[in-house]
This record gives sequence, C-alpha cells and structure tokens, in this order.
Amino acid sequence: MDASILNYSVNDNVAKFLSQTKKLYINGDWVDSKAGKTFEVEDPATGKKIATCSAGAEEDINLAVTAARKAFDSNRWGSIPPNERGKIVWKIGDLIDEHTEELAQLESLDNGKPVAIAGAADVALSSDIFRYMAGWATKIEGETIPISVPYTPEAQYHSYTLREPVGVVGQIIPWNFPLLMAAWKLSVALTAGCTIVLKPAEQTPLSALRLTEIINDAGILPEGVLNVVTGLGEEAGAPLAAHPHVDKVAFTGSTEVGKLITQAAAGNLKKVSLELGGKSPTIIFPDADVDAAIAGAASAIFFNHGQCCCAGSRLMAHEKIFDKVAEGISKIASNIKVGPGMDTSTEMGPLVSNEQFQKVSGYIESGKSDGGEILAGGKYDNSEGGHFVHPTVFAKTNADMSIVKEEIFGPVLCAQPFSDQDLDKIAEAANNTNYGLAASVWSKDISTAHKLAGKIRAGTVWINCHNIFDASLPFGGYKESGWGREMGHEVLHAYTELKAVTVNL
Ligand code: ADP
Repeated sequence: MDASILNYSVNDNVAKFLSQTKKLYINGDWVDSKAGKTFEVEDPATGKKIATCSAGAEEDINLAVTAARKAFDSNRWGSIPPNERGKIVWKIGDLIDEHTEELAQLESLDNGKPVAIAGAADVALSSDIFRYMAGWATKIEGETIPISVPYTPEAQYHSYTLREPVGVVGQIIPWNFPLLMAAWKLSVALTAGCTIVLKPAEQTPLSALRLTEIINDAGILPEGVLNVVTGLGEEAGAPLAAHPHVDKVAFTGSTEVGKLITQAAAGNLKKVSLELGGKSPTIIFPDADVDAAIAGAASAIFFNHGQCCCAGSRLMAHEKIFDKVAEGISKIASNIKVGPGMDTSTEMGPLVSNEQFQKVSGYIESGKSDGGEILAGGKYDNSEGGHFVHPTVFAKTNADMSIVKEEIFGPVLCAQPFSDQDLDKIAEAANNTNYGLAASVWSKDISTAHKLAGKIRAGTVWINCHNIFDASLPFGGYKESGWGREMGHEVLHAYTELKAVTVNL
C-alpha cells in the first residue's frame, strides 16, 4: 500500500498489514482464492483504496468447509478438555486486548467509526465476550431426568441429556461492528466445540482478518477449527449458507438477506440463527428525567452513525415534552463533529460505503418530499470521496412515511409526539413495525416503565438507557428482527444439539 493514501499515521502493524494482499485462511494456511480474484477495501472517509483482499467463491468455501468438517469429525477441537478449551478462548480475549490500538485503527479505517470509540467499545466488548464465553466451556451441561414410561411399568431406566456441539458452523457477519460481530460469533462457536467458516462483510473484512492472524500467530487453535473466507455476499456467503456439509448458519445483517439465508439453508435443513434489522422506538414520558432522556435518545440514534440494528430511530415523546425533547436532540445533533474516524476530534465518522450514503441520503430526500420537517442536519456530502451524512432529525413524521416504516441504518431520527395515557395504545404504536429488536422507555414511574416493557414486542427493552450491551445479556429479535439470540448463555443453545440417552437398568 502507498502509505500516503492514509491521511493519519498508524501503528506499524497496521501499516504492514495493509501493505500485503490479504489471503483466505483455510485449514491453518493463508491461501489465495482458487480463481485468483481480489476485491478492494476503501477508507470510507476518503473513498480511497486501503487494502486488497482475496475474493473467495464457491470452490474456496468448499475447501474451507472440508477443512472445518475434518477438524470437527476428527474431534480435533471437541476432544480438548473443556477447561483447556476455555483457556484458549480466554487467551483470545487477552490477545485482542494486547492489540487494542491496531485493531481500533483498522476498524476506524475500514468502517469509518471514530478510533477512540472503536477502542473503547468495539475492541473492549470483543475481548470481553471471549472471556465471558470461556467460563461457559466447563459448564455446558445436560440433566438427569426421572422418567415413567407407562407402557413398561416393571422397567427401571436412567435417562440423561448431553449438550453436544452442533458441528460445522458458517458465520456470516455485517460491516457495522466488524470485529465485535466476529467476536460474538467465534467466541460461542469455539466454546461449544464447533468448527467454523467465517465470512466477513466485503466492506469491512480487515479486523476479522487481523484477529485471525493474531490467533494463527499464537498457535492456539488446531488446524481447520477456524477458517475465514472473505468475498462478496452472493459469491462467498451464499454457497456457505447453502453448503450441505455445514450444520448451522449464523447470520447478522439485513432482514432481506436473512430471508435468503433461510432459503439457502433449507437444502439440508441446517440450523439457522439470524440477528436482523430493526426500527426501534425511544419512548419518552413527561415524568422522565428529560435531560437524561434527550442525551440518551440522541445517542440511541447517532451512536455508530445510526448504523446499529437497534438504533433508536423512532422517537415517541409525550406531547407535553415533545418540543423540548426534539429541540434538545436537534441541538446535540447540530453540535456533533462529523469527520474522518481517524481524526481524534471526530464524533461521527462517514457512513461505511457509497451504497449506504446513497441509501441514507435517498431516505432524507424521501422524508422531505413526504412532508417531514428537518429540525437538524439533512445535509450530506461526498464531494471529496468520503461518505458523510450529518445527524438528522425529522419532525412532522407519520406511520405511513417510508422513513418511519423502513430501516434507514443511518443517523436519521423520526420524531413523533404521543398524547395517550393508555399504555396499550402506546405499545400498539411502538409495535407498529415489522421489526422487534429493541426499544427504550424513559420514565421515572417504575410501574409505567415495567408495564410498558412487558407490552413491547422486542428482544431488548432498555429503561432509562439505550444501547447497553453486555456479553451476559442475550440479544436478538422478535418478528422480522430474527431468530434466536446472540450472547448470554442463551446463545449456547444455538450452538449445541441436545441428546437424550436412556439406559435400561
Ligand atoms: P447490509 O445490507 O447491511 O450491507 P447485508 O445483509 O447485505 O447487510 O450483508 C451482511 C452479510 O451478508 C455480509 O457479509 C454480506 O456479504 C452477506 N451477504 C449478502 N448477500 C448474501 C447472500 N445472498 N447470501 C449470503 N450472504 C450474503
């Protein structure tokens, strides 16, 4: 790579990493794609190419699945005692922490997010989930079950269940939290004793590749346990989702592609877990700590440039406080410093790609032409190659507008007042979406808050906070926001099969 392409000085390891064409990681080796094809990775702040990656396709996926299959079927990973497996998973967490600076820089260069946030949030949460999961390696347990069997009254049985690894897992991840999504998926698969083919997003493959290098250099995984195939969704993701020798596919991304994954998985009825889109409401009651709610609602939509599946993109504020809340959020929006993620004064970086820029700016225009009133932002600029969209607040929105119905996945808030006191009616408005990923409720009245939390059809409800994540909290969606949960001990169910064993004593 021509170092002058980077406008900011970077860690030596980052410079070295970017200077080499990135290969696929199959069976413990770095290899070119069979067809020799590559794709370019850009810095979204400049639109300039920063790296070249191998473009994997079906034949590379076949090789990776064969390696993962062999590693699984030979019990190369599963036979390692749980305490030793747990130590290896923990070690990956430590390795991530040791490489915080370079992983944060790669994440910022690749995705556009501010480098300090990449370090404090993305990298820190990534190491944390490996350590959280490591503890579970020794606690994946079955049960003994007293059985009756009415048709053999004389017999005596001993029955128990075993939780066994589901097998070879295909993991397809998105570009909004590239390292963290890899960490969520790899940590549980390794802990459960599965073997893996990981397909990072083509927009942001770098941090997962660097993590794989770090793991490979540490020599802690047997060959074939982890395989990483970069490439385009249709070329590398689709054959992975469809592969007959893959036992489970875990996907995070758009609802649209999630539906394709379920169809592709149907061939061998592989297990499927999906963490998809959202259109999450932020509901503010007049008795809330309004200043805290304003700051929280702003961060709910603007964190990660609105590129969060659980972004609080629909603001519902009671009419008594609506103007104050909308004004407060708009003021915050107008003061957010937009710029390159590697500039340490930047508070919001560019969107990840030109495709997202076109999509989000298109929604801003559609909101305007549908009669929405812009209270802040509404501006976007790609004149110098970067994909910058300013934090935007729309008022005068209604449930029929596309900006209210559809997932924008950008820093665009749609604000609506409500006048109801009836929690059922408020919940009905909050639930008026095909999605069901998250919501936040802002009120000092514990009854109101808890009752409403119970009525909202979403996998996560935050009360007086938003975007609070922890490795121990299950995360996932109702309705078209997905199947199954990531994180917490709940996710282990998605990576294990349950076997009932009965002995005739
Ligand atoms: P977004 O719309 O946010 O870009 P996508 O759902 O398109 O997210 O992408 C998420 C992940 O799914 C990426 O790794 C992408 O390459 C992959 N992907 C895209 N299309 C397909 C497909 N048809 N089959 C499997 N994976 C896909």
